[in-house]
Amino acid sequence: MTHHVPDGLPGELKHYIGGELVDSVSGKTFDVLDPVTNTPYVTAAAGQAEDVDRAVAAARAAFTDGPWPRLLPRARARVLNRIADAVEAQDARLAELETFDTGLPITQALGQAQRAAENFRFFADLVVAQSDDTYQVPGRQVNYVHRKPVGVAGLITPWNTPFMLESWKLAPALASGCPVVLKPAEFTPLSASLWAGIFADAGLPPGVFNLVNGFGEEAGDALVKHPDVPLISFTGETTTGQTIYRNCATHLKGMSMELGGKSPAIVFADADLDAALDSTLFGVFSLNGERCTAGSRILVERPVYDEFCARYAERAADIVVGDPHDPATEVGALVHPEHYEKVMRYVELGKSEGRLLAGGGRPSGLDTGNYVAPTVFADVPPTARIFQEEIFGPVVALTPFDTEAEALALANDVKYGLAAYLWTSNLERAHTFAQSVEAGMVWLNSHNVRDLRTPFGGVKASGLGHEGGYRSLDFYTHQQAIHVSL
Ligand code: NAD
Repeated sequence: MTHHVPDGLPGELKHYIGGELVDSVSGKTFDVLDPVTNTPYVTAAAGQAEDVDRAVAAARAAFTDGPWPRLLPRARARVLNRIADAVEAQDARLAELETFDTGLPITQALGQAQRAAENFRFFADLVVAQSDDTYQVPGRQVNYVHRKPVGVAGLITPWNTPFMLESWKLAPALASGCPVVLKPAEFTPLSASLWAGIFADAGLPPGVFNLVNGFGEEAGDALVKHPDVPLISFTGETTTGQTIYRNCATHLKGMSMELGGKSPAIVFADADLDAALDSTLFGVFSLNGERCTAGSRILVERPVYDEFCARYAERAADIVVGDPHDPATEVGALVHPEHYEKVMRYVELGKSEGRLLAGGGRPSGLDTGNYVAPTVFADVPPTARIFQEEIFGPVVALTPFDTEAEALALANDVKYGLAAYLWTSNLERAHTFAQSVEAGMVWLNSHNVRDLRTPFGGVKASGLGHEGGYRSLDFYTHQQAIHVSL
């Protein structure tokens, strides 16, 4: 199989601190693998506590003495719009790099820069339009809210769609006036290296954006524990979130946590089955199944269960798995051999927990690289680990139900609560169910498409707080109440 290697790959990935590309003080580096050959293609600086100290000092100086937190919202918005234009203009290059580094199919990596750009435009508009409360007690007092940036924000991000997820944090933090230190995921640091040039060209002052590469237990941990970082915005696994939560306690930091999921798709017998099939296949097999909002448990009402299972398995078996850069590919290579091993362990486990209908191992003809055939298990009981645990790969569990009450109980019977997808033509049931299901976000008869104005976030073990919409600005800003006597 031919394997596309992008031209002009960097020779090494450095930190970006105070407007300069720098090595780790210790000189330590780590290897980054590409997921098709699993061989190192670049080394990245392995940030330690002293590198984080430097980055935080640069960000802190930008906060206390620099222009960025003091600019009028309109002036910040101009820079954010220039960033958006630059990001959008790099869509093809970004997709090429992201596909190479993460193993995502190229057709799904394309367009992510546009989405990331829209995040910057959205927050640029929002800070300009923003107004805060004022209250008057006639003859006695005027009270108003003065909003100001909290300080240096530590941003810690995962390896799935890394550039776009970074934009979810960078855009509201910068729009709010907070300097940042970004610690991207160690599996996929390549696309984050584009930010420094984009920000510098757009006129973001030095020190406002800083990046420290490295491992979570080293660079990430030092950032979380740094006393001059009052905010941590984290996206990643629930167990990592729990560790970070504990480590934030010492300084009572503000936390935003976007964590794991095991989201249900519930298909009632009165649903448009063709649409439900299309969408539930997309919901778990797009982005290689490495999607936090994947609908990885499909609950199907008994009268249509057998038909649904048969059609679903047939479609899953037809999904094209292959080289991520091939435009025909629908599922590429999983991000890293460690993650591949984890997903394959669940595939093996599933064979004893459910009835295998499709996939179940490596796709034929792909003997190297982190490839997993789209895998479908039916008759999966709620006690099964493949029903309860996040797999984060192209693996789905199908379970029948008889009543609406049973469907709701099954949907809620996991520790997570990120998303839910509901397929029914009964309007009343759709809304009643949507309002009862334990999920931060619900899609009714709808693909997973999100309006940027709406809050994004989970309940239960899926997270704390919301990213997206004006709620993000609340996280990055203090809302100080000022009371004036008349
Ligand atoms: P992860 O938790 O392993 O790592 C995420 C980031 O945290 C990485 O940058 C890592 O280096 C860092 N990290 C690890 N240990 C740390 C520590 N002790 N202190 C500070 N930082 C630390 O997650 P992952 O495997 O990169 O990403 C996949 C997970 O992310 C899945 O569970 C997925 O559901 C979740 N996710 C959630 C959302 C959402 O919005 N809810 C979006 C995308 C991914």
